Amino acid sequence: MALASPSPRASSTLSRTPTVRGEGISAPPGATIRTTCPYCGVGCGVLAAPDGKGGAAIKGDPEHPANFGRLCSKGSALGETLGLDTRLLHPIVDGAYTNWAYALDQVAKRLQAVKAAHGPGAISFYLSGQLLTEDYYVANKLAKGYIGTPHVDTNSRLCMASSVAGHRRAFGADVVPQCYEDLEIADLVVLAGSNAAWCHPVLYQRIQVARGERGMRVINIDPRRTATCEGGDLHLPLRPGTDGILWSGLLVWLSERREIDPGYIEANTRGFAWALRRAHRLAPSLDAIGRATGLDRQAVATFYNWFSATPRVVTCYSQGVNQSAQGTDKVNAIINCHLATGRIGKPGAGALSFTGQPNAMGGREVGGLANMLAAHMGFSDADRDRVRRFWNAPNLAAGEGLKAVQMFDAIADGRIKGLWVMGTNPAVSLPRADAVRDALAKLDLLVVSENVAGNDTVQNAHIRLPAAAWGEKDGTVTNSERRISRQRAFLPLPGSARPDWWMLCEVARRMSYGEGFAFRSAADIFAEHARLSGFENEGGRAFDISGVASLSGDEFNALEPFQWPLRPGGKPVERLFANGGFFTRDGKARFVAIAPPCVASSTSRDWPFVLNTGRVRDQWHTMTRTGLSPRLSTHIAEPYVEVHPDDATRLGLEQGTLAKVTSDHGAAILRVLINRGQQPGTLFGPIHWSGQNSSAGRIGALVQPATDPFSGQPEAKATPVRIAPHPVAAFGFLLSRQPLQPAGLAYWAHAHAPFGHMLNFALDAPRDGWQAWLRAALPNDNYMSLHDDATGTHRAAVLREASLEAVVLVGPSPKLPPPDWLKSLFDQTTLSLGTRRHLLSGMPSDGATDEGPVVCVCFQVGAKRIEKTAAEAGCCSMEGVGRKLGAGTNCGSCIPEIRRILAEKGMVRKP
Ligand code: SF4
Repeated sequence: MALASPSPRASSTLSRTPTVRGEGISAPPGATIRTTCPYCGVGCGVLAAPDGKGGAAIKGDPEHPANFGRLCSKGSALGETLGLDTRLLHPIVDGAYTNWAYALDQVAKRLQAVKAAHGPGAISFYLSGQLLTEDYYVANKLAKGYIGTPHVDTNSRLCMASSVAGHRRAFGADVVPQCYEDLEIADLVVLAGSNAAWCHPVLYQRIQVARGERGMRVINIDPRRTATCEGGDLHLPLRPGTDGILWSGLLVWLSERREIDPGYIEANTRGFAWALRRAHRLAPSLDAIGRATGLDRQAVATFYNWFSATPRVVTCYSQGVNQSAQGTDKVNAIINCHLATGRIGKPGAGALSFTGQPNAMGGREVGGLANMLAAHMGFSDADRDRVRRFWNAPNLAAGEGLKAVQMFDAIADGRIKGLWVMGTNPAVSLPRADAVRDALAKLDLLVVSENVAGNDTVQNAHIRLPAAAWGEKDGTVTNSERRISRQRAFLPLPGSARPDWWMLCEVARRMSYGEGFAFRSAADIFAEHARLSGFENEGGRAFDISGVASLSGDEFNALEPFQWPLRPGGKPVERLFANGGFFTRDGKARFVAIAPPCVASSTSRDWPFVLNTGRVRDQWHTMTRTGLSPRLSTHIAEPYVEVHPDDATRLGLEQGTLAKVTSDHGAAILRVLINRGQQPGTLFGPIHWSGQNSSAGRIGALVQPATDPFSGQPEAKATPVRIAPHPVAAFGFLLSRQPLQPAGLAYWAHAHAPFGHMLNFALDAPRDGWQAWLRAALPNDNYMSLHDDATGTHRAAVLREASLEAVVLVGPSPKLPPPDWLKSLFDQTTLSLGTRRHLLSGMPSDGATDEGPVVCVCFQVGAKRIEKTAAEAGCCSMEGVGRKLGAGTNCGSCIPEIRRILAEKGMVRKP
């Protein structure tokens, strides 16, 4: 789509005067602003010290109770992601830049037109766990209260909806009973479906410190052997989808050995006998459990013994449990065991869901899920009446709306005509992502409010609205332990960017709903949200923050992190339910009888593998922010598929070659990574790559749309697929200061690098020959090349004066010289004659060692250097490696990998 001026880059120098109170405030030089990390649900406190030039120095906030000063690799690199090069800085309507007045008029007018022609139910909103609570609140109020559509859902549906449904079934409300401190005072931590070392690194580090200091045990329940297992005492690599059987077996075991707490069960719960009967049917004996789960009988018995013998047990569950067609049952199977033993809501004892996103919990609080209304109220007549009166809502939605997967089905079949997407990228992240992309193209109206100018979703929007980004916007987020923290602005708003809530209020005003949206700041919105939480709430609703409903603007700005509920005159609550007090009608928790495993993950002759999906250590979602950090891209720079060695041998898949993975819904071309941690018959692929940074790395295109019947959460962990080698004529990489995209690539993946760009690629033999192809790939006069047709080796480089501009290496196999030395040459302003002579060999003349894949991104230390240094210096501990190389001593995200490397070489004690 051609765009009229102004260009976003040129306009980034436009006035940054804030026009919205509290947003886009430029902190004074030397100031340090306390804010919150925008990535995972740990919700770490961050200290940001702006440099006055649009950047900021970033540190962990030592006073924030989530992290006490720690940050993982992603949080540590936040300062590298503040640039404006990829930002959407001005509104765009129908492909042309415009001003806010016109863009907002168009949004309002076109929404009205859809409503008039097809009714309010033809309009939907798809929100994001990246939004602040205040943005979420206004979007929900506008849609459900004023426009009158119930179809408001969020990408949190893909993340933790099963936990929400499980909590509501068991506790009567979406309440996480525990706090992070419990991870340090427990004697046993069970990580169920959680690669916490990569996905919740700061919590993982807190667990590991306690493990080292107090000898706490850690159990990992995960089909894969992940980095998290490096810091564990027992790994249970169960068959995908059989978690419910394993936990049902524990309930039976506890009951048979009288390790339950009959007093707690009697006083505070209902349904134990029925749940136990069902559990018996699913898991009658250790042998039956072993057969169903594929686990060693003795290992299962060890888990059960440890659980029953340890009063202080915390079970943490995450996407491996939630992202399942039976996620809600799995959550309840876990909670059943904690309720049966009275191990809930006590110091060091309980069930704790690790939330994936920074504000998934905040979205839940305001009703960002289609089956909730607001402030944890649902669509009962009483709740609807209460919310209608509080909002003075003219068109309150009558009932629950469509959940994410159903919502996009409704777009595909034409029931929904207008969609507003805020801060998320469904064309990449939803199951069956190709079908979602096609569905978006059918909309009469697609509005996207976004930070970035180009992603797979925004580029198809009729109207693009430039949203304020982290560091510019102001409001609150809630982390996995119910802790509400402030995200504060410390940078000016660039270009025309504005906070999402401001756009929503402006559109509301233009739709004649102005009286309900007269908010002047995030503080105003927070106050209304807090008032609603306490409105006619006599303790029957868990979510109540009316204790902070009367904050002044200054008090809101100074608000310290606190855990809800917080009622007037009360104190924040760290834990709930130790003595009952559940939010059901009779105040008692419910045991849930769970169903047998379903067949969503069944393999067949056509689809003989099960594909699991997930995150990598140093990237976040579709990489629109983390992808900007050159450091973060050094850990893993390409989309990949992990395969067990036996499967790889059988199918002829060699390490580093390419494979085509296909499901009933789409296909991806991925780099092969052979990994013993993968079970035979299973594959793993990361979720982060999109059409912007890879030729065919969108893993969402493969994922099936099966959903959990209670939560509507999609099954992202077990899609039946097949895999086959993807033959190419040559593999290569291109390092360059400027972005270059040679023609005719059969595969490519782009990553930012400290000097510019790295493109990994593969291609079929060029029609005009290699010499012509290389010459076209590196158009410059100062060009040198080397060709060896016998070995299929082709290399070229471009110098500007005596410094390296670009270098490309191509060979018949993926075993090319490692790029580390070549990368280092970009730091030199003048390449020596000797260096230039060796440039095209890809190796230095002194044969300096290959660094190996980068493990520690903070100090750029590779695996081979760790191995070599450890061997030479006789290091036998993490501390020794840290002293020698610095690796693992900053953010600590790489510690599990260093530990694995040393363990594989027999060089490390168990912690
Ligand atoms: Fe951010 Fe890392 Fe903390 Fe998560 S663990 S909130 S990504 S710093």
